[in-house]
Amino acid sequence: MTAGWKPLSMVDVKGAVTFTLWLCGCNLKCPFCHNWRLAESDRSVCGPLQEEALLGEIKSSLSLIDYVHITGGEPLVQAPALAVLLGKIKKYQVKISVNSNLTLPSSLKLVLPYLDHVATDVKLPEFYGVDETIRAVLFRSFLQSLDILKEAGIALELRVPYARGFPESRYQEVLTVALEHSPKHSTVIWNKLLGPPLTDPRDKAWCEEHCFKAG
Ligand code: SF4
Repeated sequence: MTAGWKPLSMVDVKGAVTFTLWLCGCNLKCPFCHNWRLAESDRSVCGPLQEEALLGEIKSSLSLIDYVHITGGEPLVQAPALAVLLGKIKKYQVKISVNSNLTLPSSLKLVLPYLDHVATDVKLPEFYGVDETIRAVLFRSFLQSLDILKEAGIALELRVPYARGFPESRYQEVLTVALEHSPKHSTVIWNKLLGPPLTDPRDKAWCEEHCFKAG
């Protein structure tokens, strides 16, 4: 299931031009998620992938882009189908980037041979939007995925979603652990979470309390 693509994007990978494809579905429920309809595979925005049209447009864009970038939602919830698609895209000898929450390490291994770049959020586990009992499990899976990328030497962009009302020490603690597991020279970007009207978060009450006002 996909929510479409954009042949030229300047905002999905830092300093790069990408052909960006959005895939539907996600295993987390982050309260600040502004792609929550897509993450929930809402039929108003998601549908079957028109693969031939996609590959044709990628082929036409090759001279203009640095990466084909797959984002979502969480692309790795569709890892087997994604691996097949990436195999076809890789035949164009273009670099591939994935934006993932990295909580599905077995799925990451399926697509790993095709990846040149990965972007991920370093979220406080309390932002995962899931039951407290499984947050620690998911965070361990996140670290395991970072280990896999470190071992493979894949370029990594770490984005820290920064919300109001949580101790600075908590952000530093989580980022320090993540960096210990990450490839050397990973890029770290702090992202202040913005609320409406600039964004349409899943949990507007949470965002009212924790997101920053625009401007
Ligand atoms: S991991 Fe990403 S797509 Fe999934 S709920 Fe969180 S912000 Fe949304």
